[in-house]
Amino acid sequence: MSRLKLIGSNILTALVTAAATSAFWVVAFNNGPAGGGAETRRAAAARADANASAGQPEVFLGTTGLAIPVAGVKAADLIDTYKQARAGGARVHDAIDIMAPHGRAVVAAAPGKVEKLFFSKGGGGVTAYVRSPDGRYLFYYAHLQDYAPGLKEGQLVRQGDRIGTVGSSGNANPAGPHLHFAIHRMQPGEKWYDGVAVNPYPLLVGR
Ligand SMILES: [Zn+2]
Repeated sequence: MSRLKLIGSNILTALVTAAATSAFWVVAFNNGPAGGGAETRRAAAARADANASAGQPEVFLGTTGLAIPVAGVKAADLIDTYKQARAGGARVHDAIDIMAPHGRAVVAAAPGKVEKLFFSKGGGGVTAYVRSPDGRYLFYYAHLQDYAPGLKEGQLVRQGDRIGTVGSSGNANPAGPHLHFAIHRMQPGEKWYDGVAVNPYPLLVGR
């Protein structure tokens, strides 16, 4: 477990085998070219400070370099709910739920571009879809209470940047606020509502 502010330029790429798909999972971190380490550390520290100044706990990294997308939540706190039944057993979850209080910061697990901000009253509620720089992965953040101020489609986010806050919008139980977090593998030309789900749990916890 590393603190976000300790990310250095030595972490440019993380390779993780996604057991569910027997394929390689590649996350290209926007930490800049070699020599940009000082700037990267300043940027990460600034984001950590921004979270702290807003009364938010620090952001932790999972074992493979993805940030755990809810401030203050560590890998050991996560539960693998990926295969839980949903909709009365009609489908499986294909995501993990990260329990946290209303208003806790939701941050980008990995860098990317905000592709779609979407409201689904009977589903994910206030949601954000962020595409990885290589276009191959889509990160989905749902049941938000609200978006980070000024967040808009087309915006580039760095790992750890604020997406919004934990809530219970959509079909979540108000008594159990959480972030519904999914990762989709994308083929060229696929839209924000396409893709094939990959279990985030082993990518965050390493097992
Ligand atoms: Zn969920």
